[in-house]
Amino acid sequence: MTRRLTGFQPTGNLHLGNLIGAMRPLVAAQDRPSIAMIADLHALTMEHDPETVRANTLTVATVLLAAGVDPQRTAIIANSQVPEHTELHYLLECVTGYGEAARMIQFKEKSGAGGTVRLSLLTYPVLMAADILVHDVDQVPVGEDQSQHLELARTIATRFNARYGATFVVPEGIRPESAARIMDLADPARKMSKSAPSPAGRIGLLDPPETIRKVISRAVTDTAGVVRHDREGQPGVTNLLEILRACSGREPGELTSYGALKREVTDAVEAVLAPIRARYAELSEDPSHVREVLAKGKASVQPRATETVRRTRAAIGLLD
Ligand code: ATP
Ligand code: MG
Repeated sequence: MTRRLTGFQPTGNLHLGNLIGAMRPLVAAQDRPSIAMIADLHALTMEHDPETVRANTLTVATVLLAAGVDPQRTAIIANSQVPEHTELHYLLECVTGYGEAARMIQFKEKSGAGGTVRLSLLTYPVLMAADILVHDVDQVPVGEDQSQHLELARTIATRFNARYGATFVVPEGIRPESAARIMDLADPARKMSKSAPSPAGRIGLLDPPETIRKVISRAVTDTAGVVRHDREGQPGVTNLLEILRACSGREPGELTSYGALKREVTDAVEAVLAPIRARYAELSEDPSHVREVLAKGKASVQPRATETVRRTRAAIGLLD
């Protein structure tokens, strides 16, 4: 049976794109062994506030539960709480070239933003390789932004196996079946992102209905005046149609105006988010429950992770 790992960075407010592109496919695939990993270590690669990272990590875990991730079937973990991730990270650094890490597009983009560049930003893709390889997963759902990092993880695994003997499962990147790419409502040329400079085009999973209604009513459309699926010519309208389809679960009916389209989208999004918001409020009343879920997740994945690290140490030449 295939094993999957899906990662979430605790870098801000989760949005509708995260739900449709990552959480729903995770929930839909819960019949196979899966790991939902909150990459809190990755949040330390850029200037960060300690309390915010801690709070966001718990928020992401709570939202995953509220969105229907079943902790009995899917292990929910924070990568910082499973120290095998960091131990393997170092061992994998010893089979990765400096040039390979420095070539990563995301490193170039984020390191060019000014300010101090943390060394961890350079080595983060190697940590991501460890996140994946330590659990012997064979499938990793990834968006385009992560495909170069996944390729590096595959290269590292293949190289290690060839040089030191069969040690790692070489993971395959997959596009989640139902993953529409949800675009920013204020700028439909960019994907909806947690880290977008402005929240104007983002539908937060925990936003109040009034905010969501405003964001959708201000969504950028065009002057064509026809509701039509045309990604090139009418990206804003097409994005709204895709959100409508993803949230209502059916093909949109005949819509004659952008106003009508936006009203339908607002209702469909609200129908999806209202129960998540309610469940989130319930779960937030007992933060110790979320802590327990993370502790159980860790306990369930750790035996395998320990075994992978043991195998790696032995192969690379360390004493047991
Ligand atoms: P950041 O801006 O901090 O990178 P993000 O919005 O890209 O945040 P991630 O934590 O990087 O979110 O990604 C979590 C998951 O959600 C990944 O599987 C990613 O592919 C998916 N995802 C992110 N944005 C979208 C989107 N706009 N549409 C569909 N899926 C998305
Ligand atoms: Mg991202």
